Amino acid sequence: MMLGIDNLNEQMKNELQKTISGGRRPHAVLIDGGTENEREEMAYLLAKVYVCNDDSSNEPCNSCSSCRKTDERIHPDIIKVTKPDDKKYFKKDDLKKVVEEAYQTPNEAKVRVFILSEMQLMKIESQNVLLKILEEPPAYTAFILTSETANSVIGTVLSRVSRFRIGEKNGELGFDEKAVEIVRKTSEAMLSNYEFDVISATAALDGNKQLTVNVLNLLALFFRDAVAVKNGGKPLVSELISETEKISYSFSTEKLLGFYDNMNELIRLTEGYPNYTLLSAQICAKLKT
Ligand SMILES: [Zn+2]
Repeated sequence: MMLGIDNLNEQMKNELQKTISGGRRPHAVLIDGGTENEREEMAYLLAKVYVCNDDSSNEPCNSCSSCRKTDERIHPDIIKVTKPDDKKYFKKDDLKKVVEEAYQTPNEAKVRVFILSEMQLMKIESQNVLLKILEEPPAYTAFILTSETANSVIGTVLSRVSRFRIGEKNGELGFDEKAVEIVRKTSEAMLSNYEFDVISATAALDGNKQLTVNVLNLLALFFRDAVAVKNGGKPLVSELISETEKISYSFSTEKLLGFYDNMNELIRLTEGYPNYTLLSAQICAKLKT
């Protein structure tokens, strides 16, 4: 079944209106949550809004040639990019090609739309290829990214997109309460400028492997959120909104990205890291303000 505006539930309708209201057409949108099929349908619905010949409303007219071609998935200005069937991940070269093609003018619509399908299958180095084009795409180019969860999208990409969530449920990301508490205390300690406070906040990890991994993941998300908030985006971790705002005011984007990178570096270390007590100390060292 083809998804139309009328088939959307209230939450998705609201989300769509938020994304495109007032003639606003963000140059890059991330659709996350829901099923792969829902994400794809939503991506094409949004693409249809972009290419519809009648741009007097926020909804596609569903009768012009562009709308019809979109429904039939044959619109020449809607380009879907996926990982190759025989590969586990996107090919970096394919994304370099996307960047080149993004500078070519549309064939018949006013906008050329690239759908980058299922970002959880795109490695960090490939996502990095997209940074520049996402920051300053030509006026006639738009990107629609889809992903299982926003967690799979690196912070620097996330801060450049408008986010469209399908089927947001409470606690969907399932953050561990204990981890949230430790990240909260850690952020307060970072703002207090007493190194000792960071040490005591992370002391609660107490060599606990799972908790350490949860805290590291949450810290990475937290710093990514801070960058997003600083750039006018929405945070992911609703449990830590006021902390995210405080930390985003207190540090430069560069510094926040540094913390984000540091946390990801430690996350990589946790794969087979034998000494979790030592890792707590490393977290403290990497969060030095
Ligand atoms: Zn139309």
